[in-house]
Amino acid sequence: MRPNAPPVIRQLDEASINRIAAGEVVERPASAVKELVENALDAGARRVDVTIADGGKTLIRVADDGCGIAGADLPLALSRHATSKIDGSDLLNIHTFGFRGEALPSLGAVGRLTITSRMAGQDAAQIAVSGGQIGAVRPAALNSGTVVELRDLFHATPARLKFLRTDRAEGQAIADVVKRLAMAEPFVAFTLRDVSGGGEGRMVFRADAQSGDLFDALHGRLSGVLGTEFADNSIRIEAERDGLHLSGFAALPTYSRGAAVAQFLFVNGRPVRDKLLIGALRAAYFDFLSRDRHPVAALFVDCDPTLVDVNVHPAKSEVRFRDPGTVRGLIVGALRAALAGSGHRASSTVAG
Ligand code: ADP
Ligand code: MG
Repeated sequence: MRPNAPPVIRQLDEASINRIAAGEVVERPASAVKELVENALDAGARRVDVTIADGGKTLIRVADDGCGIAGADLPLALSRHATSKIDGSDLLNIHTFGFRGEALPSLGAVGRLTITSRMAGQDAAQIAVSGGQIGAVRPAALNSGTVVELRDLFHATPARLKFLRTDRAEGQAIADVVKRLAMAEPFVAFTLRDVSGGGEGRMVFRADAQSGDLFDALHGRLSGVLGTEFADNSIRIEAERDGLHLSGFAALPTYSRGAAVAQFLFVNGRPVRDKLLIGALRAAYFDFLSRDRHPVAALFVDCDPTLVDVNVHPAKSEVRFRDPGTVRGLIVGALRAALAGSGHRASSTVAG
């Protein structure tokens, strides 16, 4: 029953607000890894090293060689809606993964977070936050870049902890996130190491920095992530229409899958799971695959940020295009032309 006392409206304190927001931003360890790796990439990192233990539940550490954070700015990085990436004047023109200034405060609300960073020309500094309580900035030792360490995720919210899957399943979700981000950044080196049980641990995933032109680099990276078989059995895709640029690799119909598990779609470098793009991919292969087969592809749509809204959901895995019809037409047209040109006959084509 509701209490009889008349309701009083109160402003929630910052720690509570962060905990509520964290529910959306940090669903599971893999979402924390996604936020931290994206921050590293936004910082211009050339290498990103991820370390986890126990499916990310007890430890997630992301180290990068990016621009670093000034010691004096460390408390700000942990405060809500504080970001160096936009100034709020143009929410439709976003060039970075992050812009909401929510990840670090959210992580600090649901785990024990330590950030160590060094900006060029400055001394390294460290700040820790646990249960929303932000500590003082201290001197630290670090050559360059940033190391963010998140321990005991959800220790203060046992309900969340209970909903997590096995260490193995959570670890796989983390590997999936790292691989997807690595696909779109072939010039950046990535490692994912699992140190459960202590010691040196086990290298789960490793992708060396590629060189050459973008397509060569992408081909090399996709071979590394998806296997050389994909790279050897796919066609290079490149097309452009009305300010939308499509590139990537699409597998031959002979190299299809029994489930839609190997469709990697990116919008302006951001991995997305978007119905429009998945539908377009399916439509493109419609005449080339039997109903129970699914295409394999890694496709990158790039456009002016004003043509696509990424601010649909805090996790930013959904997007809204200003002109969905053009996006669909571009993908279907380019893929069908490439598949037809590859010598694979459309199954519905009737001779004569
Ligand atoms: P957002 O990414 O939306 O700006 P975050 O909470 O993820 O919000 O990060 C807050 C700020 O902290 C960023 O805008 C950035 O200035 C700084 N930051 C976070 N991670 C890094 C990093 N790895 N390297 C450099 N700066 C970082
Ligand atoms: Mg961020």
